[in-house]
Amino acid sequence: MEEITIQHPLCSQCSTEITSETKFCTHCGFPENGDEKEKAVFHAKKAMKKNQTIDDHKKINSARNTLYWIAGINLVFGFIYFFTSQDVASLIVQIIVGAIYLVLAYWSQKKPFAAILSGLLFYLTMIAILAIAEPATIFSGIIFKVIIIAFLVKGVYSASQNSKE
Ligand SMILES: [Zn+2]
Repeated sequence: MEEITIQHPLCSQCSTEITSETKFCTHCGFPENGDEKEKAVFHAKKAMKKNQTIDDHKKINSARNTLYWIAGINLVFGFIYFFTSQDVASLIVQIIVGAIYLVLAYWSQKKPFAAILSGLLFYLTMIAILAIAEPATIFSGIIFKVIIIAFLVKGVYSASQNSKE
């Protein structure tokens, strides 16, 4: 018996074996047997996707930095308030809140979507609790609150787009 080996051509993009009947590479979708225009479209789409990924990572990083900032602000203001009021209970609360943001910021390196979404929900919850306790607080630093929420929302959206791949 003679051994028959069929030599399949390889995809020029990812070196996956492709049959001559199929136009697209089954691994990366490159139109190896397509025309020049189809190949150009493939490269353009790939470049756009890469740009989108870079953009998503920038927004995720901004959201992470925002979480570090909130953590820092909570800790700094916690200590400032403690030195003027000697209120240990509120210092402990501020330290716990700051620590939660630190943990979420760190966790966002591994699970950006879950961590940033948790950070956003926690931030909104804290605003709501303060607003119930002292309604006037909802308007204090409202511009900063809006900016922080915007950074976190963008981060959540970018992380959700990125984890779909
Ligand atoms: Zn391929």
